[in-house]
Amino acid sequence: MRKILLSFIILLSLSTFLSAKTYHWKKGTTFLSFLRNHGISQKLYYDLDNDDKELLAEIRAGQSYSIKKGKRQTTILIPTTDELQVKIVKRSKNRSKISLEPIPFEVLKGSIHLKVKKSVFRELYKKTHSKSLVASLKRAYSNKNLRKMKRGDTLTIFYEQKRRKGKAISSPKILASLITINKKKFYSYLANDGKYYDSLGREYRTVKKSFTPYLRPISRCRISSSFTHRRFHPILKRYKAHLGVDYAACRGTPIKATANGRIVRKGRRGGYGKCITIQHKNGLKSLYAHMSRYRKGLKVGSRVSQGTVIGYVGSTGRSTGPHLHFGMYRHGKAVNPARYVRVRRHQEIVNRLRGKEYRKLRKKVALYRNKFRRVTKTGGNPIFVRNGKYLLTKKEKRG
Ligand SMILES: [Zn+2]
Repeated sequence: MRKILLSFIILLSLSTFLSAKTYHWKKGTTFLSFLRNHGISQKLYYDLDNDDKELLAEIRAGQSYSIKKGKRQTTILIPTTDELQVKIVKRSKNRSKISLEPIPFEVLKGSIHLKVKKSVFRELYKKTHSKSLVASLKRAYSNKNLRKMKRGDTLTIFYEQKRRKGKAISSPKILASLITINKKKFYSYLANDGKYYDSLGREYRTVKKSFTPYLRPISRCRISSSFTHRRFHPILKRYKAHLGVDYAACRGTPIKATANGRIVRKGRRGGYGKCITIQHKNGLKSLYAHMSRYRKGLKVGSRVSQGTVIGYVGSTGRSTGPHLHFGMYRHGKAVNPARYVRVRRHQEIVNRLRGKEYRKLRKKVALYRNKFRRVTKTGGNPIFVRNGKYLLTKKEKRG
């Protein structure tokens, strides 16, 4: 029944489209002057609600509209938004009707199941030629790093997109999706509030969090050299231990104390150049080397709290370029600082559906259970995009 209705709407709009002439809204035309020019009573406009009047005021110069002249009546269709059009039916001067009507469109449903070979994004694009579908997938899994999906992982999605006269008039909307990463399943469902939830109605967000009481001494940097007991030294040209972490950063980047403590050493120290050592509790010491300069007012014995700026990145001592050498010592023995200042991606639940909304979601979950199974076997039915704007179903593509 829905299919018949749909084709009826298409036929109807097609027939209107074929026999109607297209015009463009002229600059400076108001809706009232438009009515006058076409011999239509202005009372039509004054009888409208304020909301409708406002909508009509939004018709812009250049907007295309159509006029279809029949034997007994003339029909004028002017789109006001992507979804609404003004319809004026004129019989005689005083027998006209105006109404706002939805512009007919179709909703195409698509489904896809694919096995990842290299990149899930590339393979999804290859299958559909839709960049916006790829963007939509990222939204559905905003808490996951899909780039890390590997060969053998899978993606299954159900989505829909609106089209009118063959053209896409909306971005694709993913309704339900399932990814498997290392055989682990992750579902994502679109709820009525326009957000994505897992099967149990939880919305997630990824936050970067430090799990230890130690702070990374500089922000916005990359590790250029890690802690190791055996490293080939670029200047000395021999193997040598590297008992710290090097953070590459611009000269002058502020260096912060990793935790509360007391400065126990400050000054030049051979290859380390200008450096500071801070004593913390639990027998821990931290070392900051190759500084360009110290922060003013600091001396041996000064107390610093976590995050206090103690100096600035430089290249003093034995160094190939501006960076911070950061070391940590437990009872005098070098330990890997990366273990102390680790920053991890962490999933946080930001919202949980409850009550009626939760029950609605669970219904969706039950509905899609079989659908997922079926699509996994058939490979799905994608909507194809041609020239970036025309949408085709599988059948139409073949035909
Ligand atoms: Zn170093």
